[in-house]
Amino acid sequence: MSTQMNAGKVAIVTGASRGIGASIATRLAADGFAVIVNYAGRAADANAVVEQIKADGGRAAAIQADVSVPAQVAAMFDQTITLFGGVDVLVNNAGIMQPGLTTLAETDDALFDRLVAINLKGTFNTLRLAANKLREGGRIVNFSSSLTAFALPGYSIYAGTKAAVETMTLIFAKELRGRGITVNAVAPGPTATELFLKDKTPEQVERLAKMPPLERLARPEDIASVVSFLVGPDGAWIDGQTIRANGGAA
Ligand code: NAP
Repeated sequence: MSTQMNAGKVAIVTGASRGIGASIATRLAADGFAVIVNYAGRAADANAVVEQIKADGGRAAAIQADVSVPAQVAAMFDQTITLFGGVDVLVNNAGIMQPGLTTLAETDDALFDRLVAINLKGTFNTLRLAANKLREGGRIVNFSSSLTAFALPGYSIYAGTKAAVETMTLIFAKELRGRGITVNAVAPGPTATELFLKDKTPEQVERLAKMPPLERLARPEDIASVVSFLVGPDGAWIDGQTIRANGGAA
């Protein structure tokens, strides 16, 4: 049913070479979207996601673009329109985290600038283009983190960029009044990807996995299901919201 309703629609998923983004790209392709698998550096991983989608009967293409560079983001939108005829869905999944735990006092200028450039300006860069390029009835999903609410020491700048994304989501949804486009954010809790697992001891992983009452880490597919709902026919009445997909962790 939703596969048919999504047929002919086109989704850009940023940071889709691995982790949550790869899972979202695969899920949206199964839902009937033609999917752009965006990546920054790992071309082989992005191509593997595209090949798997095609093997499963879906439509997909990989496009390299660093979301922090406006010209590269503009080129990605243009290539998408050339390849698939338009853009209906933008999933702003690309993001980075600081190495390990880094307090605000320990954060150097380069790390601060990099977190802001990719997590915040990267989201701004795609949103600004989406305002004009998304077709009527489009959907936008931004990526926050449940760390904005957990407020754990060691994540101040990362969580700060995500809090800004949540605020932009709310206001941008209102600014698109009359266009029939929804703008929401998903804020995952601990999810088993490279971003989460690297630089953590098994004990740290175990402790964070026990945070949710459901007592496990999220799988990327758990988060992809939420995005599938928000961009599909059943998510049409959700707008300007941040969905905390974290298994009940607080
Ligand atoms: P991940 O496994 O580290 O994957 C990150 C993806 O983003 C990769 O595909 C990477 O591409 C891409 N990327 C990085 N910098 C980029 C840039 N400048 N331009 C374009 N793409 C770029 O991360 P993840 O865990 O799947 O995280 C996905 C999103 O969920 C992020 O926004 C993250 O903040 C958020 N999140 C994650 C968790 C968690 O526990 N995992 C929790 C809350 C929120 P390349 O591989 O090509 O470099």
